[in-house]
Amino acid sequence: MDVLVNDLNKQFELFKNEYEQKAVEVLRSGWYVLGNEVKEFEKEFSTFTGTDYCVGVANGLDALWISLRVLGIKQGDEVIVQSNAYIATVLAITMNDATPVYVEPNNFHNIDDSLVEQQITDKTKAIIVTHLYGQATKMDKIKSLCKKYNIFLVEDCAQSHGAKYDEIMTGAWGDVGCFSFYPTKNLGCFGDGGAIVTNNSEIADKIRVFRNYGSKTRYYNEVCGTNSRLDEIQAGLLRVKLSHLNELQEERNKIAEKYLNGISNNLVSLPRIDEKCTTVWHQFVIESKHRDELMNYLEIKGIQTIIHYPVPPFMQECYNNGEYVKGTYPVAELKANEVLSIPIYNGLSIEAQEYVIRMINEFKI
Ligand SMILES: *Cc1c(COP(=O)(O)O)cnc(C)c1O
Repeated sequence: MDVLVNDLNKQFELFKNEYEQKAVEVLRSGWYVLGNEVKEFEKEFSTFTGTDYCVGVANGLDALWISLRVLGIKQGDEVIVQSNAYIATVLAITMNDATPVYVEPNNFHNIDDSLVEQQITDKTKAIIVTHLYGQATKMDKIKSLCKKYNIFLVEDCAQSHGAKYDEIMTGAWGDVGCFSFYPTKNLGCFGDGGAIVTNNSEIADKIRVFRNYGSKTRYYNEVCGTNSRLDEIQAGLLRVKLSHLNELQEERNKIAEKYLNGISNNLVSLPRIDEKCTTVWHQFVIESKHRDELMNYLEIKGIQTIIHYPVPPFMQECYNNGEYVKGTYPVAELKANEVLSIPIYNGLSIEAQEYVIRMINEFKI
């Protein structure tokens, strides 16, 4: 049996008619950029996240770097970020010429809130938390540190559409919440897309101007902005998917439950969920000291898996210049060697789930 790690075609098939109808509707409308679909999606997505404002942008990286730019992050500033972050989160910092300051993750793969305060200096301007693999980060302590030291709180919600901490949606905790709608995300479109949510009208206005060349009135530019707009067709398709996101989430929850109840092997540890946190199971990440052997074994059995992520940002060639001293961020290094994402996606058959469970349970060294 062959099991892909993700299958976007299956997701499309689930609501094929609605997607096709919407795409044709937008094509026939004669309006393709920043129109009614974007406006409606922004309304619906701010309602979904429980925030006052949403601004669509071109992708998740743009959501992050534009947010930092609009918050005034610049050269000489420090931004705290977890050491096992995805590269985009760190690029957003360095694209603004600011300096990433790394904090190690906890047992739930999110930033360890007990290690944050010791990294705060008078240069610290923001903390970015990523709700990694779909699980909300514990927010209360981080939020109160941001208040205490007058630091911006930025959430990277690219993997956490719909996840909550203490009943409040990810994206609604920070000064801004940054989302990606890349096709593999839980709320994915059919190309690139992104959005920023906020409760602050001034920040929302600035982002709205910045994403469209820094121009509020056409051809009059107040700031040097960029072109980062969400397409009408993607916004329309996102509206269709958002209307089904609850049922899609139920399906992911069921798969995760089946894995949690079914996988049992001393060589493998299962994902854990922190107190008051929910996860939307963007990834189902297992850990093993024998990760590489496990990955090869599963591949031979026809089961595709991926590593999120094999190289932490501070060890990437683009950042370290070969100067990284091994052991500086041991937790992130360890995770890079032990994590493995197994297949979880809408449309994954029960037979495939059972096959994955059986094969992992039969793994030995
Ligand atoms: C996908 C992702 C991004 C970037 O989103 P793009 O739309 O690909 O630019 C940023 N952060 C995290 C955690 C992601 O998973």
